[in-house]
Amino acid sequence: MQLEFSEDDERFRQAARDWLAANAPTDTPPYDGQPARDYALSWLAKCHAGGWSGIGWPREYGGQSLAPSKLILWYEEYVRARAPSVLDCTFVSVNHAGPTLIALGTDEQKTFHLPRILEGKSVWCQGFSEPGAGSDLASLSTTGRVEGDEIVVNGQKIWTSFADIADYQELLIRTDPEQKRHRGLSWVICDMESPGITVRPIRNMAGVTHFAEVFYDDVRIPLSNVVGGLHDGWRTAMTTLGFERKTAAMGVQLALSIRIEDLIARAEPTPGSAMAERLADLRAEGAALRAMTYRTIFREPANPSEGSLMRLYFAELAQRIAQASMDVLGPEALTDTALTHDYLEAYSETIAGGTAEIQRNIIAERILGLPRE
Ligand SMILES: Cc1cc2nc3c(=O)[nH]c(=O)nc-3n(C[C@H](O)[C@H](O)[C@H](O)COP(=O)(O)OP(=O)(O)OC[C@H]3O[C@@H](n4cnc5c(N)ncnc54)[C@H](O)[C@@H]3O)c2cc1C
Repeated sequence: MQLEFSEDDERFRQAARDWLAANAPTDTPPYDGQPARDYALSWLAKCHAGGWSGIGWPREYGGQSLAPSKLILWYEEYVRARAPSVLDCTFVSVNHAGPTLIALGTDEQKTFHLPRILEGKSVWCQGFSEPGAGSDLASLSTTGRVEGDEIVVNGQKIWTSFADIADYQELLIRTDPEQKRHRGLSWVICDMESPGITVRPIRNMAGVTHFAEVFYDDVRIPLSNVVGGLHDGWRTAMTTLGFERKTAAMGVQLALSIRIEDLIARAEPTPGSAMAERLADLRAEGAALRAMTYRTIFREPANPSEGSLMRLYFAELAQRIAQASMDVLGPEALTDTALTHDYLEAYSETIAGGTAEIQRNIIAERILGLPRE
């Protein structure tokens, strides 16, 4: 897909390119713990000082009200500059907690949290999944008992990315025990320093503590921390996931093409060889993903479930690229810590944010019109 950009777009692109060339760090960021937090917050603070944090947010909340078509130029330049992955511990705050507060938060919530997020002063995590509720999120069982002007929370979350270094959490709980499934839930802002919270980091097979279990033992949260209405949390959660699945994914998707180009440059395949063919296929797939990303930005999808097509294609392509890096570079890849890290982490791509099986179910039922499972 070839798109034409206006002169104004090209000026914007050049400004982004110049700023990133002068400011973006290109070293490998720490993967977890306090060093990951310090690195990510300092990079976000630098972006903020340069006027580049939360650029898609409305102006009145500190952003630049940029249209998605401009945002895509920013992300293209961002990945070209090999700036730090947007999937760091500030991803939740900038890309979906902040936008959820803008859409459904109270004035008090917005005034307190939005500047802290954009200035790189707070880290958020997402407490949705539980041991018995992942793909079937509506079956969650962490409870919130309303007592006066507080909610008393008991239960457990799991796989909460960056919970050990987060200040706040998007916490989804059952506040009305009489209601079932999607009804009777609430989305609340949980201060991770609250008494009664225990965070137990989980080490994954890449050797990093990217996520954690979180236990809640009579944790008291002010009722004023409910976002989008008491017992109406499913609507808020869908708003959050909508942000996560649309514009927030752009930077991650576009970064795949750069990884393919870097692999090609490093492997120096002989033209016509099997390796060259495999890398050419990956380059074509990267271009296809880019075209799909553009399409969702430039036209309203005919079917809201189209996001699942892109999510699935992205996840499986990320795994193919990681596998190709290992195969093509051989022993050299094993001595490259960043590459082995990416390879091991790629296994989680078809689980996080909705598994490949669930995406296939959505595509089958809601796009292809096949019978429900
Ligand atoms: C790296 C990573 C980061 C994460 N970060 C967060 C986070 O920050 N916050 C958060 O809340 N969660 C997070 N998660 C959790 C993630 O959302 C869940 O792992 C995911 O939704 C799947 O849920 P589950 O693990 O409970 O698996 P389950 O839902 O128990 O599924 C187990 C298996 O059964 C299959 N399956 C389930 N239902 C069906 C069905 N109807 N049809 C066909 N197959 C089915 C699944 O595809 C899977 O293979 C993260 C996960 C990963 C891997």
